[in-house]
Amino acid sequence: MSKRIVLEFDHVTKVYTTGELSVHALNDISLAVEEQEVVVVMGPSGAGKTTFLTIAGALMSPTSGRVIISGTDISVLNEGQLPAVRQKMIGFVFQSFNLFESLTALQNVELVMATRGITGEGARERALALLSAVGMEGRQHNVPKKLSGGEKQRVAIARALANNPDLVLADEPTANLDSKRGREIMEVLRMVAKELGKTVVAVTHDLRVRELADRVLWLEDGSFRDISDEPGARGGDHPPDPMAQ
Ligand code: ADP
Ligand code: MG
Repeated sequence: MSKRIVLEFDHVTKVYTTGELSVHALNDISLAVEEQEVVVVMGPSGAGKTTFLTIAGALMSPTSGRVIISGTDISVLNEGQLPAVRQKMIGFVFQSFNLFESLTALQNVELVMATRGITGEGARERALALLSAVGMEGRQHNVPKKLSGGEKQRVAIARALANNPDLVLADEPTANLDSKRGREIMEVLRMVAKELGKTVVAVTHDLRVRELADRVLWLEDGSFRDISDEPGARGGDHPPDPMAQ
């Protein structure tokens, strides 16, 4: 049986216009990502990675084309309708963790649930289960200052899962971590896809995490190229340099 498609781009174009200048940040992109799939997007600076993630995250509408998340065509929704889609269907993980410093790990996760009216014992149990799933059992009462970078990112992943989204989008999730922690975080994201049934799309410059992806897409000049099967793309001894092309 084929898997459900969670994120679909159908001939998506994004043009930024500033005065008389137009930039085609995304150029007729089509893409389908299934449930349980881990897709890593790489590419040089200015390639359109942030634009891609911002549109996939329902934070911005494309100039043309359709974006479908879990069967909902978000390109026909107005700005007022997008926040509800984001809250329900998408979890975000950032390079800089973005945790509330005055709240414990547990409270950071619970807070997201509270914004959807889920509080009390049920919320606590769910938050604890998520923290345990990402390897933070026993550390739930620490504030971010008392956690390592890798631990903070684990909390951020638990938080991204708080509302049980289908899609987890990660923007350079390993950029602030050393090699070992970066790999561990990518392993957590892979677990989130394979065991918790989520779809994970991560933008990264980190060559080390490529072997943990099901698919590696190279974004350049607003178009994708699948480089999963290219030499070195799966973490060989001499992976291609993403900045060199
Ligand atoms: P990346 O994240 O891969 O570095 P971006 O998506 O940020 O790439 O940018 C893609 C292209 O679109 C670049 O040429 C950039 O200068 C341009 N761009 C991005 N955001 C804007 C904006 N708000 N207004 C105008 N041009 C933009
Ligand atoms: Mg960027």
